Amino acid sequence: MAKTSLQKLEKLRGCAWTQQQCLLLQSYLQAQNLPSGGTVELNRLFKKAVLVTLYCNRMSFVPYKPLDLGIATLQEYAHLPASTADPDAFHFGTSVFASKEELKYFLTQIWQQPIDEEKPELGFRPIVCLEYGNGSGSVSAAMWKEIGFDPAKMDNTIAMLDGQVIAEQAKITRNQFATIDYLLAQFQISPHACDHAGNTAAYVIIVAMLCALRKHLYQSTQNEKSKPGQHGQSTSVAAQVVVNRLMERPTPAPPTGVEIYCHRCGSHEHKFRQCINTDFICNGCLLSPVSWKRDNAASHKEGLCIFRPRFFH
Ligand SMILES: [Zn+2]
Ligand SMILES: [Zn+2]
Repeated sequence: MAKTSLQKLEKLRGCAWTQQQCLLLQSYLQAQNLPSGGTVELNRLFKKAVLVTLYCNRMSFVPYKPLDLGIATLQEYAHLPASTADPDAFHFGTSVFASKEELKYFLTQIWQQPIDEEKPELGFRPIVCLEYGNGSGSVSAAMWKEIGFDPAKMDNTIAMLDGQVIAEQAKITRNQFATIDYLLAQFQISPHACDHAGNTAAYVIIVAMLCALRKHLYQSTQNEKSKPGQHGQSTSVAAQVVVNRLMERPTPAPPTGVEIYCHRCGSHEHKFRQCINTDFICNGCLLSPVSWKRDNAASHKEGLCIFRPRFFH
């Protein structure tokens, strides 16, 4: 990237990073200028930004392995508890099984989108990254370190947004740790298969947009059913109807990883549910002093275990 484009991105990052998250997303969604402090040049660049939502399921206990990241399940950890490992549960698109390397490469590709294909010197488009509940710093940092890609550390990431923070700033809730389910309920949306990271990522986008545009969508003077200053329904369609339509339109699989993988036997011919090898057991995990490993011993054959034998002695 040319030095000047990097400098511009750096300036934009310096400006966008400190703005109120809800206002920043609001401006972005409406293709407006930065809420404050933006020069003509920075505003022009801001309008070229791409919004990327990342949601990662990880183990809720040590070693906090990252399991599923939106559209991809980490293949090597697919047999660990809490991994959904079921691409069929993803209702908004097609998900794949990918290695850490494939995932890192894919994320890098997403981040490196040229402003103009024919003028590479203009550099990459700025990225506004949306997560949910990313306040839990050290665990989150360790997780990105393991994948080898940290969205906050990329040069062209101009803002890291958190759906939880946006909901609070939009005054949808006073709880700074509100769950996605609670927030969706405020917009009368019933989530479906929320344990799949891809579905959660889609719900994070929906909730963050509805929160950021709350006043515009629900309190507009043009909205016949809603009086200004009061809560109201959209005049045209309910949010749930829009969400259902999104689920009816599958998107192609991402250009990485594989769609079929069995984490029990390692086959790429069938999925876990179709696996006939029901008698596999990992002896390493079976003999482990750690109870969740013992409970999980039948989810994989020994050769696929990611835990080295020394953990068990
Ligand atoms: Zn199998
Ligand atoms: Zn094992």
